[in-house]
Amino acid sequence: MLRSSLLWLSEQPGIFNFIKNNSLAGKFASRFVAGETLETAIEAVKKSNAAGLTATLDLLGESVSTREEAEQSREEVVEILDRIHAEGLDANVSIKPTQMGLDVDEEFCRANLRKLMEVAKKYDTFVRLDMENATYTDRTLEIFEELAADYGDLVGAVIQTCLYRSPADIEKLVKTRSRVRLVKGAYAEPESVAYPKKQDVDDAYCNLTDVLLERGNYPAMATHDEVMIEHAKRFAKAKNISPDRFEFQMLYGVRRDLQTQLRSEGYNVRVYVPYGTQWYPYLMRRLAERPANIAFIVGNVIKESVRGR
Ligand SMILES: Cc1cc2nc3c(=O)[nH]c(=O)nc-3n(C[C@H](O)[C@H](O)[C@H](O)COP(=O)(O)OP(=O)(O)OC[C@H]3O[C@@H](n4cnc5c(N)ncnc54)[C@H](O)[C@@H]3O)c2cc1C
Repeated sequence: MLRSSLLWLSEQPGIFNFIKNNSLAGKFASRFVAGETLETAIEAVKKSNAAGLTATLDLLGESVSTREEAEQSREEVVEILDRIHAEGLDANVSIKPTQMGLDVDEEFCRANLRKLMEVAKKYDTFVRLDMENATYTDRTLEIFEELAADYGDLVGAVIQTCLYRSPADIEKLVKTRSRVRLVKGAYAEPESVAYPKKQDVDDAYCNLTDVLLERGNYPAMATHDEVMIEHAKRFAKAKNISPDRFEFQMLYGVRRDLQTQLRSEGYNVRVYVPYGTQWYPYLMRRLAERPANIAFIVGNVIKESVRGR
């Protein structure tokens, strides 16, 4: 109930307009978002790299509704790619297709993504297409296939284990040697397309992890769930799949202890570093995943405010 309410709130831009200038809300966001500017995000990436963790940078902002906004987002992502290259960071980028104009015009979105891929190719930097809600899955995978045909391993897809269709999608992606990030899925989906029970989503996660580890092309297991992580480690060991053939991914600010622990055990770990002014839907999805975060963040903000007095 709380989860679905938070996910509903994540889709109400009017509420964001109301709270975005509230400094307390900004403090909440900073727990999960690496600041509002590229500079702050670059600093976060440098810290991750220094700790032996790689990163993926995500310019926040989705469901863009005009060409101008999409073009502006595209240029900002070009700037990210330029900076990654100029600073020699061990990082790549993640992009949401709606941020590149998928809701405006599909051809326009494809053209924007192609422009980005040309820059990524110049720098030999990887670009991941994040997966949004299930109404976008077909279009996102079609666009991915088209880009992968031209840019190969420089582009990757995301598959959500909550969706019934995912085993078939994984099978197809494995056959084409596509780069896949596996996630449980962050959106409220109807029962017609997604498992309503968490246990089924988790079981599917383990099954699809096995397929990707055995037959995938450098898959990424993106989860903070220790049961999923232990499963992947056990399966890889049993099948003699060495740790350099896959990576774990986690979100900025979530389970930092686990991120460094996995790295110290010799696993590749990538941190997803979101930044930008459009942090509201992202923050609400993170709170929906773990409503206990609300109390955690409020507690921290109060502690910091008291200390600051
Ligand atoms: C790198 C990365 C990229 C992602 N990309 C996408 C994408 O493109 N599309 C998409 O739909 N989803 C994406 N997600 C989100 C994903 O679908 C899940 O919603 C999210 O990862 C939470 O699920 P979980 O696997 O961590 O397991 P859960 O079962 O949600 O959580 C397991 C445990 O992990 C910890 N945990 C989980 N979330 C949090 C949190 N927010 N704060 C604190 N602790 C937490 C808690 O201890 C919890 O008990 C991404 C996630 C990651 C890590």
